[in-house]
Amino acid sequence: MLQPQQFYRNLSRTAFFLLFLIAPVTNLFRYDLTEGHFILFGQSLGLGIDQAIAGVAGTDAAFQILIRVLLPIVILVAAGIWIAAKYGRLYCGWLCPHFSVVELINGQMQKLIGRPTIWEKGSKPHSSAAWLMLIGSSTLMALVWSVGLLGYLVPPLELYQDLLHWQLGGGRALFVSVATLVFLSDFLFARHLFCKFGCALGVMQSLLWMANPKALMVSFDSKRADLCKDCNSACDAACPMRLPARGIKRRKFTCTQCSECIHACNEVQKDNPGGGLLHWTPGDQYRDPDKDRMIPAINIQSRKKEDDDERR
Ligand code: SF4
Ligand code: SF4
Repeated sequence: MLQPQQFYRNLSRTAFFLLFLIAPVTNLFRYDLTEGHFILFGQSLGLGIDQAIAGVAGTDAAFQILIRVLLPIVILVAAGIWIAAKYGRLYCGWLCPHFSVVELINGQMQKLIGRPTIWEKGSKPHSSAAWLMLIGSSTLMALVWSVGLLGYLVPPLELYQDLLHWQLGGGRALFVSVATLVFLSDFLFARHLFCKFGCALGVMQSLLWMANPKALMVSFDSKRADLCKDCNSACDAACPMRLPARGIKRRKFTCTQCSECIHACNEVQKDNPGGGLLHWTPGDQYRDPDKDRMIPAINIQSRKKEDDDERR
């Protein structure tokens, strides 16, 4: 059953994904290549500045630009820096449309081929139909992304009409084809790599988070680590970024604060009055700074092997 935090995270991710798709269509935000200016909240940004400059006849044009362009950017960047330094990659885990795709394809791979990425060991017997379904759904998502992105650059309604009538012009058809292929490769083979090292926004948030020792993080109650012996590393298995959930902060540099590891452990320990072993805390409150030891992750494969051995 979904825990409340998971429900709200699903809600925020879905809402932001829809916003990502409808923002250009509703003229909330896009760059119109044909006109050569940004459109923000239905207003032509370049034109507004031109009018402001013309209206004030050069007396305080710089002030108008400061108020209408620079100030909102500075406020947005400052708020982003503060949130990332205090709470880490909240944007990634709770809003980012790319991370939503990461989680979606992780889930599909797990269901269809028995592992969340093609790079991990362990699989379940699966047919070529499973691969076809995986590639088909990933291609569809890549197509949605490429068309969605093109809508940020050209008039989106015209684009969707052309698409519906199979009348995409040469340049647009080429963009959609190439972008779909690039996204498909990313989604199938490198989606985690992109989140970890390819996204400037993600890496910036991680760096700010690492610099603050009191930033919110998932801490592991190592005093109760013995309880992990009876568990098949549910927390590690649940992590969409494939991180060691019980590891020290440095090893979770790219943690997206999605809290899936916390929920997995709460589920495992649901009959334990002491609750789960993973908690959100300001800084690592359970860690003994004198012993910078890492609790060894219990590998799912070795755990399975132990179980098999016991059965024999
Ligand atoms: S370590 Fe936990 S909170 Fe961080 S990305 Fe993994 S599952 Fe999410
Ligand atoms: S889910 Fe909880 S009990 Fe299981 S390995 Fe992770 S921290 Fe330990």
